Amino acid sequence: MNKSVINQPSNLNKKKLNWIDFKRLIELISVDLKNYKLFEKNPEKFLVEFALNLEPYSAKEAVDIYLKKKKAVDNPYIMQAYKIIQPIYDDLFKRVDISNFTFLKFQKWIQRKKKALAWESKEARKILSHFNAPVMFELNQGCSSQCDFCCLNTHPLTKIYPYTKENKKFWLEILKITKEEIGNAASVGACYFATEPLDNFDYEKFIADFYQVFYTFPQTTTVKGATNIKRIKQLMNQLGLEELQKAKLRFSIVSQEQLKLIYQNYTKKELAYVELLMNNKESIHPYSDSGRARNIHKKRGKKNFEAAPSVCLIGFLVNLCSKTISLITPRKPSNNYPLGMEIISSKKFLTPKEYRHIIRKTINIFMPFKINKNHKLRFHSGISIQSKGNIVTFLGENIKRSLSLSAESQTVLKKLQKEVCLIKNIFKEKKYSNFLRKSILNRLQHLYDLGFLEILEREEY
Ligand code: SF4
Repeated sequence: MNKSVINQPSNLNKKKLNWIDFKRLIELISVDLKNYKLFEKNPEKFLVEFALNLEPYSAKEAVDIYLKKKKAVDNPYIMQAYKIIQPIYDDLFKRVDISNFTFLKFQKWIQRKKKALAWESKEARKILSHFNAPVMFELNQGCSSQCDFCCLNTHPLTKIYPYTKENKKFWLEILKITKEEIGNAASVGACYFATEPLDNFDYEKFIADFYQVFYTFPQTTTVKGATNIKRIKQLMNQLGLEELQKAKLRFSIVSQEQLKLIYQNYTKKELAYVELLMNNKESIHPYSDSGRARNIHKKRGKKNFEAAPSVCLIGFLVNLCSKTISLITPRKPSNNYPLGMEIISSKKFLTPKEYRHIIRKTINIFMPFKINKNHKLRFHSGISIQSKGNIVTFLGENIKRSLSLSAESQTVLKKLQKEVCLIKNIFKEKKYSNFLRKSILNRLQHLYDLGFLEILEREEY
């Protein structure tokens, strides 16, 4: 194959610039690296065997770029994939744009949480450009699937929120309040978290209401792709092509057998925009080292486990069964945060009015722009401190930064590292002058903006 032809996608036979088959090729490679070995050995034979109508040289080059074995070049398949995938991200990032948040405080808090996560986990740094949802809803309690790699260590399914007349009204009110209090950014939220969406028999009705409020469907990720085929095909119809093209349907693949069943039961065309998440043990993708995945290292042999959270929520988790609303942030998985997340606060609500009140109060208490002496603060546990004279070095995972801090500011900081403190109590205890108090608060504000300091629950909350 002439290399100049590869660099000019328009010269590639149009029939061979085949997204559906290229997507399938990437899936086959991702589900088991053994497939890559076969493909690498003889691309032509592999493509014939799996009935993929692709040009072998460019397809091989594209796979190598995908696997980061080769630097990106103007490969026709990669360019085509980019054209299909980029609009999905454009849409998501447009939705979570700062202008789509009702309270700027909330958006700034999310940014601080992202910065802090980048400090505590080098693995998380790589994925920080991914979007984060500011809200997620659970329509069940527990999950029927009990996958052994479940990073959220879900409990078995115990409750389902039914779509009764009363619940429909309640749900619609919750959605409308969410839109008002969080903003249109909430439209990137999903109706599952530590749950399997299709466990709820009325899931489709709930997401139809979501559409009515946000003019877009929430993303559905299901592990039931091979078992609930009739229902999923109806869901595909409900979503329609335009929403499917926005990656609104994803299948979690837990075994190669399941993948085969999916290939047998759906046409390539039906799967054209359904993302298949390869979570099977042979897959090239790592597991987040959180939840149940922490228990299966030995069983999974060479499987890669990353110390990055899999939680894409930075914001509110709302469970309709328990009527709870929790403020969640991802954390580096550890013994302290085995699920790779921290629940900063959790409250119950009985009415939509209470729901609105909790959102507002949580934002006001945990997310102010400015800190003051009445705040209870703690220093981020994922960051350590070394000091030499006036120079303080902050150390995260493979990252550090030095700042000049007065002896008094350092004393306050060290206290906040050990325990949660009310700032005014430290000031009183140390008998700092007004000038010193002001200067310390200034420095603390800088550290707060960097995500190093966090406001914790107040007694009256
Ligand atoms: S990974 Fe998803 S489907 Fe599997 S047990 Fe966890 S929540 Fe359920």
